[in-house]
Amino acid sequence: MALIVQKFGGTSVGNVERIQNVAKKVAQFVDEGHQVVVVLSAMSGETNRLTMMAKEMQTRPCKREMDVLLTTGEQVTIALLSMALQQKGYPAISYTGWQIPLTTDSSHSKARIEKIDGDKMLDQLGQGKVVVVAGFQGINIKGDITTLGRGGSDTTAVALAAALNADECQIYTDVDGVYTTDPRVVPEAKRLDMVTYDEMLELASLGAKVLQIRSVEFASKYKVPLRVLSSLKEGGGTLITTEDNFKDTEMEQPLISGIAFSRDEAKLMILGVPDKPGVAYQILGPISDANLEIDMIIQNQGIEGTTDFTFTMSRADAEMALEILQSTANHLGAREVTMDDTIVKISMVGVGMKSHAGIASTMFKTLADNEINIQMIGTTEIKISVVVEEGHLDLAVQSLHTAFELDK
Ligand code: ASP
Ligand code: MG
Repeated sequence: MALIVQKFGGTSVGNVERIQNVAKKVAQFVDEGHQVVVVLSAMSGETNRLTMMAKEMQTRPCKREMDVLLTTGEQVTIALLSMALQQKGYPAISYTGWQIPLTTDSSHSKARIEKIDGDKMLDQLGQGKVVVVAGFQGINIKGDITTLGRGGSDTTAVALAAALNADECQIYTDVDGVYTTDPRVVPEAKRLDMVTYDEMLELASLGAKVLQIRSVEFASKYKVPLRVLSSLKEGGGTLITTEDNFKDTEMEQPLISGIAFSRDEAKLMILGVPDKPGVAYQILGPISDANLEIDMIIQNQGIEGTTDFTFTMSRADAEMALEILQSTANHLGAREVTMDDTIVKISMVGVGMKSHAGIASTMFKTLADNEINIQMIGTTEIKISVVVEEGHLDLAVQSLHTAFELDK
């Protein structure tokens, strides 16, 4: 017998019939003798629908009231699932976040979990019931309802699994796992059976559509085995786990687990700035003061007392950063400022590359063979990223996918 936390997303509970389907799935696990805690999202589209109504009431809706409003979506689905289970003869009880209670800090709309009281849930499980919990919500010290941010039900599920010391946290969604890359770009992309927490975090751009990245950080911190799988299709999904767990299996760790990419990138350059202490800070300080996040950074070798500085960031923020950079440039006496928002970032990710040389050169050779120019390169212990022109994205990802035999 195991204790399993199962989370079903909005599409899986999108209508009455689908909720009945979820009940069937949960019942299977109960029949196998497991104790099950279910975490649900609101029906798909519901959180957006509620948000739109709020905007008709108030230009900038009060965050406290917004949380009161948005948490109703999950309250609907947990009650309906409990009813469906009871109807099938499986005792079940639903709880909202505050009934657990799941205590958070007070930042409405992006609250952080502080404490989860597992007693009530364990007591009900002990009585043979399925416990159905509303995702995405909690209560603060003042007794106000809070929410964890969009997609927050994934984090609720992982946090409950950690608090209850569950054997596994299963995230059911509309895809059947995490893939080696986006199947829309590479139709031969394969589902990964297993991936480490660190890889999953680096594969965020692929995974983000599958699960909230914060939930992976949480799972990694508390070593909760996390499995992503489809609520409609049978199959083992993708297990996200520790590197040690990987070593325990017969599977050989692949060099590369996947290829992530981001189309939402822009490159900014400031040319001919003085090559002296404090310049990097003078350039990037005002940008971070404006709360704009930057990603890759390159400073060229200085020549005759000046140097060039290049960095990338989200496209949405680039115009604003450009303005800031222009005023910094005047101030520093820089020669020129440029912005290019037709670039993309491609990253090869794999824990296996820690112990293998030559991954980078294979990657660069593959791009060269396809006449794709690399504009920037960045590396971490388990990732190599390149910036290329956006028109080259598909070809680059497809050829790398083949070169590293990810379709095998
Ligand atoms: N219902 C919330 C949302 O749509 C939380 C979730 O589904 O995880 O973001
Ligand atoms: Mg979701």
